[in-house]
Amino acid sequence: MTVIAPDAVCTPQGLKIGHTVVVEDGSIIGVDPAGRHPVDVALPGRVLLPGLVNAHSHAFQRAFRGHVQWRAAGSDDFWSWRDRMYAVANGLDPEGVQAVSALAFLEMALAGVTHVGEFHYLHHQADGTPYADPDELAKRVIAAATEVGIRITLLRVAYARGGPGAALRPDQARFADCSPADVLDALARLQPLQSDPRVRLGLAAHSVRALDASWLAALSAWPGVVHAHVSEQPAENEACLAEHGRSPTAVLEHAGLVHDRFTAVHLTWPLQGDVDRLAAAGARVCVCPTTEQDLGDGWLPMEPRLRLPLCVGSDSHARIDLFEEARCLELHGRAVAGRRNVLAPEGEPDGLAHRLLQSASAEGARALGGAGGGIAVGQPADLVAVDLRRTAADGVPPLQAAAFVATPEWVDHVWVAGRAVVVDGAHPRQEEIRRAAAPHLSRAAV
Ligand SMILES: [Zn+2]
Repeated sequence: MTVIAPDAVCTPQGLKIGHTVVVEDGSIIGVDPAGRHPVDVALPGRVLLPGLVNAHSHAFQRAFRGHVQWRAAGSDDFWSWRDRMYAVANGLDPEGVQAVSALAFLEMALAGVTHVGEFHYLHHQADGTPYADPDELAKRVIAAATEVGIRITLLRVAYARGGPGAALRPDQARFADCSPADVLDALARLQPLQSDPRVRLGLAAHSVRALDASWLAALSAWPGVVHAHVSEQPAENEACLAEHGRSPTAVLEHAGLVHDRFTAVHLTWPLQGDVDRLAAAGARVCVCPTTEQDLGDGWLPMEPRLRLPLCVGSDSHARIDLFEEARCLELHGRAVAGRRNVLAPEGEPDGLAHRLLQSASAEGARALGGAGGGIAVGQPADLVAVDLRRTAADGVPPLQAAAFVATPEWVDHVWVAGRAVVVDGAHPRQEEIRRAAAPHLSRAAV
């Protein structure tokens, strides 16, 4: 049994001051008034939050941070960024994929992330030839997460074409599946990895660009969580309307993929009726604000922002800061609406801070198939201590400090299933993981 004693605990019922959190066998067995148990880990000046959940990640993209944020000449947009992203993706061997993924997951752990949803679409060698083990790269990515000690839901991506009526480009050969059955077979082969309780599997239908209607319908047989990139760019909507006569969300719904296990990633450009479709199904949106800004995608409009459950992801890893992703849900909403208090529940003093932190934790956990119960008895002991003994936190109430001011550097202790992964702001293997990744990181603009 481990008894953790922070100044304040963020629970589903609100902030509790002067309480301890009692952990045993990976679960929370008590949230009790201080003094009831001897303290094992005293955390003065900290607020304890539920573990942060990064619901949308492409870990390998950490390799080119800083080398794709601008272009020396010519115009640049999502599509030209994508060409350069492919060049990096095709340069990574299995060791590189694992090492760069471990670096991304290390950075996440240090920033308070206890669970990542990895939207995994690197499957084969760069020319499209399968590895001797066809699941080599999926296993490498999972190994990277377990090496760091965070939970992973591997969202195994289905990817079949370059666009409506277009074969895959040569630089997309690495992502290719031959049939929907191949995708479901891969998920079946990966099932034994779930014997580690930190590992879960999900399905990602890459996008309506990458899959036609017959593929989407066949993939609806998957009984678990389903994620898809949806309406990230206007050109994607236009191509979809030309091919199907309906929006990407409507195409996914028609195929049977929009249900309460479905997460639409981005939804930056929803079309008429899309929010109704998602709301009626109990689906949610994963918003990736720092990436959407970096790529020039745009901002989530007001209607889905107000009507759908929202979780967050760091996607391309231009930054890894779930506090920032979560607060952008409100701040970008203010910019879009031209007013303040966009997501604040009526009449709840801590309501907005609590809601933003929920988006970065419980709602993300639900998107990845978990309970998302937060810091409560019976829930997994995924916990993050945020140090409020900072000049910037002076005079700021704990929840408001965590939601509106905190940065990853304020995280100093992280537990996953009751196991300490980060202690005093450090991970025991951080130098080794950084050294292993270094040769695989981009050295120049790509
Ligand atoms: Zn993505």
